[in-house]
Amino acid sequence: MTDGDGNCLFCAIVARDVPADVVLETEASLAFRDINAQAPTHVLVIPKTHQPHVAALAEHEPAALADLMACAAAVADAEGLDGHYRLVFNTGSQVGQSVFHVHGHVLGGRPMGWPPG
Ligand code: AMP
Repeated sequence: MTDGDGNCLFCAIVARDVPADVVLETEASLAFRDINAQAPTHVLVIPKTHQPHVAALAEHEPAALADLMACAAAVADAEGLDGHYRLVFNTGSQVGQSVFHVHGHVLGGRPMGWPPG
């Protein structure tokens, strides 16, 4: 499923129409490196089906959200983050969401401050 006009970048990555550095794949999720890494590990985890943000995924496809969270944890393990990572779902343009296909940022490999900017 796409965003309706068939023009979703992350749907195109799932379809392998756009290349990506894939690090992990499950039946329902795909994990690939962010092209503009903000940390030594910066991997995006996405559901293969299209939902615009994580709340919509939780409402409409809770099993896919559970798979996505397990996929994020598996990525962190595979990257050797030893349980120390940040998982971010920007939701809405005002807080920085720029791609409207739900994605979690798995960030790690360096110290991080709080609160976030
Ligand atoms: P957000 O701003 O939370 O919507 O995150 C979108 C992320 O997608 C940004 O960190 C971008 O660097 C990343 N991104 C955009 N296009 C690509 C791409 N073709 N492959 C991998 N990451 C991408």
